[in-house]
Amino acid sequence: MLIQDSEPLVSVVIPVYNEAESLRPLMTGLHATLETLHQPYEIIAVDDGSRDDSFALLRELAAHSPQLRVVRLRRNFGQTQAFAAGFDRARGEIIVTIDADLQNDPTDIPRLLHKLDEGYDVVSGWRANRHDAWLSRRLPSVLANRLISAVTGLQLHDYGCSLKAYRREVVQNLALYGELHRFIPAIASWQGIAVTELPVTHHARRFGSSKYGLGRTLRVLLDLVTVRFLLSYATRPMQFFGLIGLGLMGFGTVILAYLAGVKFVLHQTIGDRPLLLVGVMVIVLGMQFLSIGLIGEMLVRTTNSGREPAYRVREEVNSPATMAKQPTAL
Ligand code: UDP
Ligand code: MG
Repeated sequence: MLIQDSEPLVSVVIPVYNEAESLRPLMTGLHATLETLHQPYEIIAVDDGSRDDSFALLRELAAHSPQLRVVRLRRNFGQTQAFAAGFDRARGEIIVTIDADLQNDPTDIPRLLHKLDEGYDVVSGWRANRHDAWLSRRLPSVLANRLISAVTGLQLHDYGCSLKAYRREVVQNLALYGELHRFIPAIASWQGIAVTELPVTHHARRFGSSKYGLGRTLRVLLDLVTVRFLLSYATRPMQFFGLIGLGLMGFGTVILAYLAGVKFVLHQTIGDRPLLLVGVMVIVLGMQFLSIGLIGEMLVRTTNSGREPAYRVREEVNSPATMAKQPTAL
């Protein structure tokens, strides 16, 4: 038996929402697998406002298992927020996320960790043989994965799989909300972090029911727009809005120049031409976009400065802050 007071190497984070029947077999499976690593570990179960016996059961399980930490959120905040609560508390160098419903298989965890050891910072599970309804879950998922891959530039087969392994610094300091947890690999990859995927086992749900339906796909798509914008322009809104603004103003100027020609060269009246209205409106719209860009720049400077660095450092040599934080191999 290892001394569990020492800092754990691996933290397993589990979001739990009404999964009482699954918790006991899940914990048995997790402990069995994690013991084979012969490294200190912790399991952080985040009860996301369950209305069944999940919390009582977790508390009971924790009484017999010092590695199990339980966090209970005040209400149902959603899977992403549950992950965030777990990440904030995780002490391990490596953070593994897994669903509570036994659809992911704990025995895949050692393979994820070995993949990390090959030099990756994020290993994302890929449910190559997924056991969910085809029309309502798998088809939208295939389409969404293609779209997300195209928009974010990181090609993954399965953005939605919860079974993932991260080095801790990847998920630390990430502001997670909405459906953003599934975009962590894309955000990470944009930061220059090495991301890969690994086929994992997937089981049909044995107990309880899925918390999601088709509605989530829409929310994921909206968050995709947010992520794309944040990745590209969060620190330079003027380059996004300003470009649109300048384009519109240029377009409007061409229209008005043409109308001026019509009036002063051809001596025709232009007061009744709809084009005049279009030209004026397009210029006003362009000025508004420019102003939004300026306001955005001010917001970036007042709200974001110091929190989100515009760059990411891979490593530093002889720098006091990083000396103690060498990555540990398994
Ligand atoms: N979950 C959660 N809060 C929620 C919804 C879900 O913590 O509001 C947890 C749930 O208990 C499970 C995981 O997130 O462990 C994935 O949920 P689910 O299995 O319903 O999603 P699916 O696998 O069907 O995509
Ligand atoms: Mg599930």
